[in-house]
Order: sequence, then C-alpha cells, then structure tokens
Amino acid sequence: MKITVSVIKADVGGIGGHTRPSDGLIDAVKKTIKASEDLLIDYYIGYCGDDVHIVMSHTHGVDNNDIHKLAWDAFMAGTQVAREEGLYGAGQDLLKDSFSGNVKGMGPGVAEMEFEERPNEAFTVFAADKTEPGAFNYPFYRMFVDALSNTGLIVNKSLARGVNMNIMDVEQGKIAELSLWEDKPSIEAALMYPGRYVVSTVTTKDGEPIVASSTDRLHNIAGTYVGKDDPICVVRTQKNFPATEEVGSVFNNPHYVAGNTRGSHNMPLMPVKLNSAATINFCIPIVQALVFSMHNGKFTGPFDGFSTPDWDYVREIATKKALAMRSQGFVHPATLVPSELEYAEGYKARMSVLEEKMKPVEGSSDNSEKKENYEDPD
Ligand SMILES: [Mg+2]
Repeated sequence: MKITVSVIKADVGGIGGHTRPSDGLIDAVKKTIKASEDLLIDYYIGYCGDDVHIVMSHTHGVDNNDIHKLAWDAFMAGTQVAREEGLYGAGQDLLKDSFSGNVKGMGPGVAEMEFEERPNEAFTVFAADKTEPGAFNYPFYRMFVDALSNTGLIVNKSLARGVNMNIMDVEQGKIAELSLWEDKPSIEAALMYPGRYVVSTVTTKDGEPIVASSTDRLHNIAGTYVGKDDPICVVRTQKNFPATEEVGSVFNNPHYVAGNTRGSHNMPLMPVKLNSAATINFCIPIVQALVFSMHNGKFTGPFDGFSTPDWDYVREIATKKALAMRSQGFVHPATLVPSELEYAEGYKARMSVLEEKMKPVEGSSDNSEKKENYEDPD
C-alpha cells in the first residue's frame, strides 16, 4: 500500500516571545484538521519551541493541493487565535495572504515522502527550533557516512552500498545529486558549511526514500538569504535503513549550529522532550525526536525519543557548551559571521559609522588591487 507521510510546520505565534504556542492556538489547529480528517488516514499535532508541526498520513501523494490547503487553513486558524491572544509573532511564518495550491514558498516548512509501506513501517520525525536547516548536516553525516557513529554502515547490506544524497545550495537555489561512496569528499566539502549547503533528501541506491527534509521554502525564496528556517525532517528506520537507535544517537554530541537569540549566534543543538518550549536561557537551539510505527497508514506513537534518562546527561553537556560559548559575549564565533547575522541591517548601521571614521594608515600599501589568484601550496 502506497502511503504518503506529510509533515508541515509553521511558527504562527508564541507566548511572551519565541517560546511556545498557546494551548488555544494548538486547539485551533487541531480543530481545523479534525474537521477535514476524512482526507487523512491519521495525524498527530505537536510543537517544538514556537513551531507547530502537523504529521499526516494519507494516500494523495506529495505536493497534494488538498493536504497543503488543510495545513494552511489550520495555521490560519492558529494565527487567528494568536492575534486574539496577542501572542508574539502572530502569523509570522505565513508569508502570503491567501492559499495558492501549495504551501511551499508560502512560509511553512514541508517534509514529505510517498512510499510502499512495509509491514512494520517505522520512522522518526526530527523537529528543531531556533536554528537552520543545515543543523541536520552533521547528524545526517554521522547517520549515512560515518561508520564510527553508525556500525550499520558496515553490517547492513543496503547501507554499506552507500546512499544517494541530494544537497541544496541555499544561496543559489540549486540542488546537486550526489552519491556515496564515490562523492564522499564532495559531500564532506558541502556539509562543512551548513549555512550554505543543506541535505534535502536521502534515498537508497534502489531509490527507496529514507530522508525528506524541509528545504523547500529555502529553494522557493532563493535570491534572498533565507537560511534561518527552523527545520523538520522525516527519517525512515530499520531493515534497509539505519536502526532507530542509529538515527537517534547521532544527536548525542550537541554540535554547534547557527541560530539562538536573534538568530545570530552559534550554539549547541540540545535534544529535548516532545512539546518542549524554547528555553529563555538564550533560547538554546533544540531538537525533538517523534518516533512512530505505522500500519496501513495508522500511527502508533509518537514515542518521545529523547525522554530516557541518558538524554538528561546530553542536555547537561549542551547546556555547558552553550554557557561556555556565550561566556565570551558577542565576540565571534559566539556570534555569526556578518553575512549571516539575522539582524544584519542593524549591524550594517553600526558598521557604516565605523567605516566613516576609517582613514588610511600613513605609509600602508593600497591593497585594493591585490591579486586574487590564490595558489595552492601543494
Ligand atoms: Mg521557531
């Protein structure tokens, strides 16, 4: 049976800042979905920080107008409540006034895939807040490239063959189709800079979908830098794919990602429990794991993947790394490079004052026509 799993998420308002949606907002989203539940086989609604996610199963395929419109209407209903309650950033992710066929490019993030359901279908949704899509680069690398993180890459026949990995250039709005193991160094070179290159999909060598990640908005609004979009992804697990514990454990080393307060800092990605608010302690970037079983499109779960006691220890590591980074205040690399500062206009204003005061140093050579050809010392 071919099933489509569609995960659509948006931030349409938070209590007192970018913390979490209100119960009233969530209820409005739930009511809208429930009123059209005939369209779906099953659904689950939750939140990660200030982002509401709707996980849906159905038989209508990816990019389906009715499914996308349903999610859009649900977020509009949530926005209405957010406005009535005076929530912060009410409707902030809904960039258009009316729905036009597909939520891609309209603000919400979409991760969806259609596949032949296995008898014991298993998948995990990773939802993140206060960060950017490239935040998943390092975990995906550990999942599909690094055998030291994932023994499955050695002992599983399908994974040992390597996977196909599509990587998006978010500045140019282009996608490269790459393949392991032959493109390993090129994939590594791309993943080195999560601010520009982002994993969008992963499939087996036979073309079975494993990962779909929410990069569509970035693609559709290419031309202006929109790299700061809280990501969500679906990862199928078990059998020909990584084991559930192999996809979960790649989040056990809280790596530094761009995001955090004003979207302007490098901070560690902290695994948290389902439906956690973003912390008001600098709003450390967070990620949640929604672990599902599915049969005939019906969900069991989600089990809260980061709820067991070992993750408390990982949260402690993340908190220590966060405080260590912020202990140096605004000094880079605590802050992002200027081109990625979300509040770049304010930064530019400060810098224009500085530049006006800049005068050439007497006796210094003019470097403006310096040769740009860099010769590799090798
Ligand atoms: Mg958010």
